[in-house]
Amino acid sequence: MRIKIISSYKKLLEMAKDPIILESVFNLVHWDMETMMPPRGIELRSQQLALIKQVEHKIRTNPEIGKLLDKLLKHPDYDDLNQIQKRNVFLIKKEYDEQVMLPEELVKETARQEAITVDVWKKAKAAKDYSIYEPELGKLFELKKKAAEILMDVKKTSTPYDALIDIFEPKMPAKTITKIFNGLKDGLITLIEKCRNSSKQPDVSVLKRKVPIQFQSQVSNAIAKFVDYDTESEKAGGRIDETEHPFTTGYFDDVRITTHYHKDNFTSALFSTLHEAGHAIYGQNINHKFMYQPVGEGCSYGFHESQSRFVENILGRSRDFWVYFFPVLKQLTGNVFSDVDLDTFIKAINNVKPSKIRIEADEVTYSLHVIIRFNIEQDLFAGKVSVAELPEVWNQSYKEYLGVDIEHDSEGVMQDTHWASGYFGYFPSYAVGNIYSGQIVNEMEKELPGWRTKISKGNFKEIKQWMIKNVQVHGKLYDPSELIKKIAGKEINFEPFLNYLNQKYSELYDF
Ligand code: ZN
Repeated sequence: MRIKIISSYKKLLEMAKDPIILESVFNLVHWDMETMMPPRGIELRSQQLALIKQVEHKIRTNPEIGKLLDKLLKHPDYDDLNQIQKRNVFLIKKEYDEQVMLPEELVKETARQEAITVDVWKKAKAAKDYSIYEPELGKLFELKKKAAEILMDVKKTSTPYDALIDIFEPKMPAKTITKIFNGLKDGLITLIEKCRNSSKQPDVSVLKRKVPIQFQSQVSNAIAKFVDYDTESEKAGGRIDETEHPFTTGYFDDVRITTHYHKDNFTSALFSTLHEAGHAIYGQNINHKFMYQPVGEGCSYGFHESQSRFVENILGRSRDFWVYFFPVLKQLTGNVFSDVDLDTFIKAINNVKPSKIRIEADEVTYSLHVIIRFNIEQDLFAGKVSVAELPEVWNQSYKEYLGVDIEHDSEGVMQDTHWASGYFGYFPSYAVGNIYSGQIVNEMEKELPGWRTKISKGNFKEIKQWMIKNVQVHGKLYDPSELIKKIAGKEINFEPFLNYLNQKYSELYDF
């Protein structure tokens, strides 16, 4: 009997392997579209991406998988499977049950429309003209809504939007997120007020200094090295390229990041590289035995963000990091910062100022950008806001939450690629990630009380090992709610993140 269930399990796992590899092909072709593809390639590329998705869907919905799942779950020896095996079965079943409900034509059409919408988004953004983008976004939204309505039944969520969130943050309905975000929002607004009213405002002129791209690229490489993201050695599993919108893509031994160099805004590339390297090292340090298995990916998008935002902010904007890295930065950038002292630099990179662009936002105001998008998405899928009304709602929200005036849609509703890429329901993960990172670091503090001193001496190894052991190695073995409990002993809680911010900024702003 025992042999029988294992052989069925192995057969099932073998069937789950092909779509995983195919997805990595999709990601690579997509990476090429963003980094290397000549402009005229878009029509062919949209067909290529659509075909890969169509084939992947076909493989994922092979009736054989359904039969095997049935056999396994009814097998009298099912309980002999270990935790990892059971989790793989669960994840394969979840994926299968959802995919069989989605018509192949819808999947293919959505992938094609996504490639087109991203392309149009880029053009509309450059032209600062939402009207070019709106029809394509409208088509994509309708396709996503159709899928969300189908998935809502399978996932048993109470709204279509919840079904979309579930793709990125499993089992976290909008209702729960709203409650958490409301508490977080109040704390952030109070903190922003305190920073604004402080008499100790940072001198940010240093951030405008022109840093030649070639120097910035060397800084990016040095940062990658610091966090042990290998892009240079013979055994490297990473690389850094340049795109308009930085991102990470890849699988285990080939995880690539992109960044964006601006001559007169060097911190943009610096923090993007830190952020994406945080994602990359997570992807590379999931238990290697999980490769080609459903458990072999990040726990959730929120957990992914907890890792990238830890590296970008909790590490990358800390005094300790810059005690070590500022001399390195100075050395790699010629004379650009030779007259700048460490304190001025640290205060400048931690300037709290409500702004228009999410990816350029400081860590205090950042989550408000996310909460705005979460509210808008909720209204969009509830039919309270139309695609045509998005710019207006966006601008109103920015005025209300952050007190800023949006002058054109490229710095407003068109700033992010997510909706153009079909990623509705993704945004909440960013703030959820911030919240997880607060809880995770709280625990790390208990076990590695000297971690900050280690950073100031240029030693990231033990911290990285702690993260791998406690967060990254588990891959998708647990639901996010289970993993955070395993790490922090509690469910999701925004207090540690808020405490971290309050402590840090009360020192910087002297209140
Ligand atoms: Zn990220």
